[in-house]
Amino acid sequence: MIRVLVFVSTLALLIFGSVWLADRPGAVAVEWLGWRLQTSVPVLLLLLLLAAGLLTAGLRFFAFAAGWPGRWADGRRESRQRRGYLALTDGLAAAASGDAKQARQLAEKAEKLLGDPGLTGFLSAQAAHLSGNSQSAQDHFQRLLQRPQTAAIGLRGLLDAAVQAGDLTKIVDLAGQARAIRPDDPWLAETLFTAFVKLGRWTEAESLLADVQRRKAMPVASLNRRRALVLTERAGAADPQTAIGLARKALSADPSCTAAALRLADLYRNSGALAKAATILEKAWRSGPATALADSYGNLHPDEEPLARVRRLEKLVASHPDHVLSHLAVAQACLKAQLWGQARKHLLAAVAQQPVSGTFRLLAELEKAEYKDQVAAQAWLVKAAEAPADPVWTCANCGVKAPVWTLLCPGCQTPDSLNLV
Ligand SMILES: [Zn+2]
Repeated sequence: MIRVLVFVSTLALLIFGSVWLADRPGAVAVEWLGWRLQTSVPVLLLLLLLAAGLLTAGLRFFAFAAGWPGRWADGRRESRQRRGYLALTDGLAAAASGDAKQARQLAEKAEKLLGDPGLTGFLSAQAAHLSGNSQSAQDHFQRLLQRPQTAAIGLRGLLDAAVQAGDLTKIVDLAGQARAIRPDDPWLAETLFTAFVKLGRWTEAESLLADVQRRKAMPVASLNRRRALVLTERAGAADPQTAIGLARKALSADPSCTAAALRLADLYRNSGALAKAATILEKAWRSGPATALADSYGNLHPDEEPLARVRRLEKLVASHPDHVLSHLAVAQACLKAQLWGQARKHLLAAVAQQPVSGTFRLLAELEKAEYKDQVAAQAWLVKAAEAPADPVWTCANCGVKAPVWTLLCPGCQTPDSLNLV
């Protein structure tokens, strides 16, 4: 509506101006350098308008022509960038799918087109890593450290390489730096903790756990267990008086930690406090029966009569009388005390819960000892051969089997990875 009004008004003004000029033709004469121009005022105005129009068009064309090289360069740059980003994206997809050759080719292309190692460094590093060129991958990751925005990726890449190479000192250094950037990252905390434990740097492992607890970067139960295990190890290396304090702290951090209970009971036994040792082992049995607890409890009085041992073990297992390990612990003591009836009762109860070959072999022993019955013994031995093997400590990480529980797996050195399987 406004446009129409403006158009109509302009048209009216032009018509009015033309009529006004036509009514007043006048005459103009110009003399210059021997030239003489004589015309009317409206024609002169028209000529002036035409000259101004031509001048404007000329200037515009000149500006357009002068800007052309810049525009051409801009266009070329944009096209390079577009192709560079496309190569970068395709390269990352190739790296993610594990296509080393394609990833390397696209990384080189992206590097050439974009000319920014900060942008293409990650892809180049991944491509080098996939191609098995670890030195080149490390160089690329090292370069990523120079920019704050990519430093975390660079550290992670270098850290992965250090973990793969098993270089513990390097892991501690890099994981420490990475935690300064990402203090809440659970993987970093885990990696650093494992390295501290493998290096036996218990005090640092303990401070790390305190920091992890402040940041809630690990589930509470697993944090408490780790703290208990670290304190137990510290107790193992400390003088007897300090050791007892540390082992008590370990057990209060995680009352179900068998390793901590065994350590504290051991320390009490060595200091002659046998009653305290017994109480610790009974409490530990209450939180979770374990063969090592029964063995340690038995060893508190190595020279006692077999019958006395049976009575004591019955006291130990009183909190879990129906547990398979309770039946087995008492059954073995009964066999030594020649309490055949009780031994049979406990062994049959154990085998009903967990029919494993070790328990069938004990039943065979019982037949031979009680009745000298070779046929019955043989029948149990046949069952023993057919039954699954006794549970054995097995690493959840590398599958190695170990005769006793140790903090570090004897195969792959992973902390706390052995489970009874
Ligand atoms: Zn292992």
